[in-house]
Amino acid sequence: GGVGGVGSKERIEVSVRLRPLSAMEVARNEPSDWECINDTTIIFRNSMPERSMVPTAYTFDRVFRCDSTTKHVYEEGAREVALSVVSGINGSIFAYGQTSSGKTYTMTGITEYAMNDIYDYIRKHKERAFVLKFAAMEIYNEAVRDLLRTESIPLRVLDDPDRGTIIEKLTEVTLRDWNHMQELLSICEAQRQIGETSLNEMSSRSHQILRLTIESSAREFLGKDNSSTLSASVNFVDLAGSERASQALSAGARLKEGCHINRSLLTLGTVIRKLSKGRNGHIPYRDSKLTRILQPALGGNARTAIICTICPARSHIEQSRNTLLFASCAK
Ligand code: ADP
Ligand code: MG
Repeated sequence: GGVGGVGSKERIEVSVRLRPLSAMEVARNEPSDWECINDTTIIFRNSMPERSMVPTAYTFDRVFRCDSTTKHVYEEGAREVALSVVSGINGSIFAYGQTSSGKTYTMTGITEYAMNDIYDYIRKHKERAFVLKFAAMEIYNEAVRDLLRTESIPLRVLDDPDRGTIIEKLTEVTLRDWNHMQELLSICEAQRQIGETSLNEMSSRSHQILRLTIESSAREFLGKDNSSTLSASVNFVDLAGSERASQALSAGARLKEGCHINRSLLTLGTVIRKLSKGRNGHIPYRDSKLTRILQPALGGNARTAIICTICPARSHIEQSRNTLLFASCAK
């Protein structure tokens, strides 16, 4: 049922982005069997002699060809969700896909474009006073780390009777201006890279959440009345590589680490599947750190955009199909 007239279908936008073949893949003469035939359909045209030639078509809200710019992906696939935050509507934008499919490339660009758009909106709406707050975290092995701090003590996720799920001691910085926000983004980037060098493969196994919270009130009511106050958050989520999820499913999740990573990724999959079906029953937000933290920005009135990234090369065929399967279930 849609509060505010938005159906669950419209609340979850699913798009697929095909990245170009890398120089390495080109050098190896890797063929690609994927083609976006219009704005919503991607087809798999299997030209391998041992398989049938019948193309398989997959349809999503949007598909982005390998020569699409990130600006275009942002405008068509994420802009609406990002800008909803200024109207007091929570949102989450995800990049989902196997390692090396372009999640970080896509999400980094989307975050920049979104921040620019939000600042642009604020400049054009002088009748309201805005306060922007920024926080950044990484979930690795079901432990939450603050990306704005150098020491990497795991943060506790707690339930507060008034505020809901909170992350204890998470740094939340009130932004002075656009430059301040750029500075913080570079700090996060540096913190993430420190993690990567000290822990092999960390980037493919961890989830990164950048959270921008915006509070605003009409200037004419400032200090008199808070009925015009709006508050919402938008989350930019660069997910762990999806290959872990499929591996663990087949291997029966032997490793503690694999199990935990998949707990967040698999629970997210379940939550999104249930939300997209418009189910009113139990949604297992509490089964993982990622879904607990993102609960206010998933379901309900919140808006969600999922950008699924795939590698065009034939050697990645199974992973690309798994990603499209996930994307189909999210619709
Ligand atoms: P992931 O985060 O999914 O592991 P990355 O975003 O790191 O993948 O991308 C892997 C490599 O491919 C990087 O070198 C990145 O710059 C490049 N890449 C990804 N997507 C694109 C794209 N759409 N156009 C050009 N290069 C891309
Ligand atoms: Mg990455």
